[in-house]
Amino acid sequence: MTGMDAIAVPEPAAVEIVALTKRYAPGTPAAVDAIDLRIAAGSYCCLLGPSGCGKSTTLRMIAGHESVSSGDILQGNRNITNLPAAERGTAMMFQSFALFPHLSALDNVAFSLKMKGMAKAERHRRAQDLLDRVAMGHLAQRKPGELSGGQQQRVALARALITQPRVLLLDEPLSALDPFLRIQMRAELRRWQKELGLTFIHVTHSQEEAMALADTMVVMNHGLIEQVGSPHQVYNHPASEFVARFMGGHNVLFTPAGPIAVRNDHMQVAPAESTPSGLLATVTDVEYQGTYVLLGLQLAEAPAGKAGVSVQLAEAAFDAQPYAVGDAVRLTWADAHARPLGPGAVRPDERQSAPPPAIDPATAPDAAALPAVAF
Ligand code: ADP
Ligand code: MG
Repeated sequence: MTGMDAIAVPEPAAVEIVALTKRYAPGTPAAVDAIDLRIAAGSYCCLLGPSGCGKSTTLRMIAGHESVSSGDILQGNRNITNLPAAERGTAMMFQSFALFPHLSALDNVAFSLKMKGMAKAERHRRAQDLLDRVAMGHLAQRKPGELSGGQQQRVALARALITQPRVLLLDEPLSALDPFLRIQMRAELRRWQKELGLTFIHVTHSQEEAMALADTMVVMNHGLIEQVGSPHQVYNHPASEFVARFMGGHNVLFTPAGPIAVRNDHMQVAPAESTPSGLLATVTDVEYQGTYVLLGLQLAEAPAGKAGVSVQLAEAAFDAQPYAVGDAVRLTWADAHARPLGPGAVRPDERQSAPPPAIDPATAPDAAALPAVAF
């Protein structure tokens, strides 16, 4: 590669958000409601949540593309809340990369330098350096239509990096791709983040994508943060019913001691006539998934609308004891697999009066005190 030092990747920056709020119109609910968040320098952070929960609004406020109603955004030791976008040390990579179709890869990458009035020779030299860096130097003259999806992603990355950002912001960058390409591209994004060592903040509504990419996952709901943690922490210790359901793969069960989550591969199932203990349920679906079989079930007793549960059985276990739609079964789980669920995020105006969560799911002794099936 050539001239690598000509366009050095700068030091990554930490981003801190303090009581950040966005209200698009007076009297409407806040799209982002006094959230606090610290994102470590050089980490891959995913903002995750259902459509409309405030992910893009948060990202656009960090980028400087959206004004802040109140609160602060700090980067490193600078308060960037009111800086123009171009002075923040951030760059944005958009959905499906949004390259200019009529420009070569080189001119796409050099575009923002052209806007700044940089002479052609110098901007081309810098753009070529960055294309080399993402292993695209040999295709610099191609137009986006002559490049594969992966190659386009690398051009888009080079284009974002040419402004020498300390934080790269990505808003659903993979959502327009077909599923196969999406999985390839996310592996590549992860690799580039590690290699460049920059802080990435990536918005997605896909829990699978966030799990695959993130050092830190931030689960949002209705403009609030429900949980922050590594994918392993969030998946294995969901803080609330919302997180357990949104992450998937969990059943939310209502015990006398409060709601719990149990992973559907941690549930045991037995024919109802074989045992008196456990929750009574009826099999409603049997889906063969290759390495496992997914049973859909309806609990005999559950709060309205919350009777649906699922059990993931290893193929061999299912073969040894097959179930069919309509079978009556009993469901049990080991105490150690029960995760007590907290009440979830509380809106700022309700925080004063709200009691603290009874149990911190991350530190609770794995609900050993909870009766697993004694109800
Ligand atoms: P997400 O990216 O998580 O899908 P958004 O941040 O785009 O969510 O939107 C959060 C909320 O703010 C939604 O209710 C959305 O309708 C509203 N919203 C987003 N952009 C605007 C806007 N420019 N004007 C008014 N309301 C908006
Ligand atoms: Mg969005």
